[in-house]
Amino acid sequence: MVGWTTVPVKREVVLNQGVVVCHIELDEAGLGEVSGYIFMDGNPVKDARVYLMVHYQYKHGKSDHNGFYTFTEVPSGETEVTVTCYSDGNRTLFELENQPESLAVIGAGYIALELAQAYHRFGTKVKLIHRSERVLSTQTSDISDELTKHLSDEGIEIHLNTKVKKISRTDENTILITAEENGKEVQFRVSHILIAAGIDANTANLGLEILGVNLDKAGSVIVNEKQETNIGHVYAIGDCTNTPSFVYTAAAEGKTAALNAIMNKDATMDYQGLPWVVFTDPQVAGAGIDEKEAIKEGIPYETSTVYLKDVPRSIAARDTRGFIKLIRNTETDELLGIRVVAPEGGELVMQASLAIKYGIKVEEIANSLHPYLTLSEGVKLASITFKKDIKELSCCAV
Ligand SMILES: Cc1cc2nc3c(=O)[nH]c(=O)nc-3n(C[C@H](O)[C@H](O)[C@H](O)COP(=O)(O)OP(=O)(O)OC[C@H]3O[C@@H](n4cnc5c(N)ncnc54)[C@H](O)[C@@H]3O)c2cc1C
Repeated sequence: MVGWTTVPVKREVVLNQGVVVCHIELDEAGLGEVSGYIFMDGNPVKDARVYLMVHYQYKHGKSDHNGFYTFTEVPSGETEVTVTCYSDGNRTLFELENQPESLAVIGAGYIALELAQAYHRFGTKVKLIHRSERVLSTQTSDISDELTKHLSDEGIEIHLNTKVKKISRTDENTILITAEENGKEVQFRVSHILIAAGIDANTANLGLEILGVNLDKAGSVIVNEKQETNIGHVYAIGDCTNTPSFVYTAAAEGKTAALNAIMNKDATMDYQGLPWVVFTDPQVAGAGIDEKEAIKEGIPYETSTVYLKDVPRSIAARDTRGFIKLIRNTETDELLGIRVVAPEGGELVMQASLAIKYGIKVEEIANSLHPYLTLSEGVKLASITFKKDIKELSCCAV
């Protein structure tokens, strides 16, 4: 169990009688992205860039035309604004002193799903509320359906096709969410809310427009493979750019930018076969492209899916949740992508990532020796079953 400690932002507001300036872009339902800074005596004491909010309550706030709510002279002991925020990594949400009794998670991307399941397993009653018809909606429906089944089976309440209309507080411990689920009005009562409906790059107010740095429509800094912007001496890396948003890509981009900017090298980023993992249980993981992307890119493809009920390791471990799917180019036999839903399935994607990056053919994977009773044998099985029915195979996938 993770320890729960007091939320720093709230404590600072109440004890220091400070000023909170939060940029809150709320829609009429009271939902939206929050970003902002905490100022005490005119000084920013904590960068409180907030893109996810667990719970908020505000009274007497004055809004200027830009949607900046300014709260001044908060009397000691009285909470004019409570912004319990999840910022700068994974700290604050897990530092709540009291475990939420119930939590509505709005959104169903990887952050929403990981945290919904984590809180559910802490013992919090979790409701996942999502406006689309599928969780992880950027993935194909077989992935969404498989994960939804396992999350529902363990007791997470999932409301798809559900659009939040209004959030109000009925008493100190209860937040009432009014929503439209499949066109019908529904109400949910919870103690806390986590909004995990996406992030935008925090590039406003940096004066980038003065330099003339190009941003895309979402406000991300446009960079090339050397991490250069359109302005010669300005480089950008990480989540604020138009590149994949992961901690390991951010680190590699930082190294690339430093080599180019400081050491005059010609370093470049290569995202081919990029591996990624959603840390739910079972995990969802992938590398390379999927069917949708193959169609978009006009690549002839076929898929092969092996269910874990047919993988010896999973049978022995008595955990057969999920599947391994490979996508191959039917003309060249090159591996295009892998998608996995499996316990610890993230461990599988690196062999596929390397195969994709270095053009290894599916037949070569099928002919490679994989140790018996490892999950990785499932990748070999999926390679073989492009051409053979799994029921025809004898021991050790031959
Ligand atoms: C809940 C959650 C789970 C995640 N899990 C994973 C995972 O398992 N694996 C993974 O690879 N990635 C994960 N990510 C994504 C990963 O955290 C980000 O991709 C990564 O942190 C990006 O690094 P960054 O340096 O670009 O940005 P950040 O880590 O966000 O760092 C940006 C820094 O800039 C500071 N800053 C912002 N604005 C200003 C300003 N105006 N002036 C000065 N400083 C400023 C911020 O305070 C912050 O310290 C997760 C993200 C979240 C939210």
